[in-house]
Amino acid sequence: MVFDLRRYSVHDGPGIRTAVFLKGCPLHCSWCHNPESQWPEPQLLVRDHRCLHCGACIAACPRAALHWEGARVATDPARCEVCGACADACPAEARAVVGRSMRVTEILREIERDLPFFDQSGGGVTVTGGEPLAQPQFTSALLSACRERQLHTVLDTSGYAPTEVAVALGGLADLVLFDLKHPDDERHREGTGVGNALILHNLRRLLAAGVDVLVRIPLVPGYNDGAAELQRAAALIGALEPVPRVELLPFHAAAEEKHRRFGLPYRHAGARPQQRSALDVCRDHFARAGVTAVVGG
Ligand code: SF4
Ligand code: SF4
Repeated sequence: MVFDLRRYSVHDGPGIRTAVFLKGCPLHCSWCHNPESQWPEPQLLVRDHRCLHCGACIAACPRAALHWEGARVATDPARCEVCGACADACPAEARAVVGRSMRVTEILREIERDLPFFDQSGGGVTVTGGEPLAQPQFTSALLSACRERQLHTVLDTSGYAPTEVAVALGGLADLVLFDLKHPDDERHREGTGVGNALILHNLRRLLAAGVDVLVRIPLVPGYNDGAAELQRAAALIGALEPVPRVELLPFHAAAEEKHRRFGLPYRHAGARPQQRSALDVCRDHFARAGVTAVVGG
């Protein structure tokens, strides 16, 4: 179940990459940039600001799930079967179904179009999400197929999965981007819906297995970007064997708009990206713990 296939990505590993975004995630991070990635089934996306108020979607719906609510078309979720007929009928692309079932062979066909860019830039394929470890057979088949074609592969994961899955799939990738959201179990649960014990266990197991791991920390204002939290994260990472590299990801405000489009509550309204000087301070906490950290994009 794929929700996006992005070509020319430069934020999901080295070089120019084809990023395959799998739908479905066991975490529910309150700042998630891709809230449409969390639910494992297809979803109807509505962009009210594009609506021309023509009523074509209402006429097209076979389930009578749509009706006028003032000047707005409202969807009855109890009736909607996410068939996509309203999206097909809409002349303004105000409606879309997010998420479709794809085969590995289909994805490889898309990837093959980008081969010249990989060669020139040192790029490759990134399997991300959502959570790629939540679709282990598909992720394994895709990573293996890329490896057979000698393509550089990145697995981007929250690390929240059965340990045998994390270790097996991590071993199929050239690089694992491993998210660490918060060093404290309870605060991790508050922000993501799950604790961090399994995640840290899997991180240790991947490092022990010799997998190349880059730990990525999304900096969320007021949640994990304070001095105390960063010092704890730095101490925790500095005690790992071997000590992995770290990338600090500045906050992005774009998530607010995406949550609004999906009608989802958003806890970080008004939060802004950290200033450059603040990011330097964040990085210094890691340097003092003997951890090499860079600020990412
Ligand atoms: S996705 Fe299908 S069932 Fe749902 S509102 Fe659109 S047309 Fe109706
Ligand atoms: S078909 Fe599209 S533009 Fe027309 S009313 Fe429905 S959502 Fe709006």
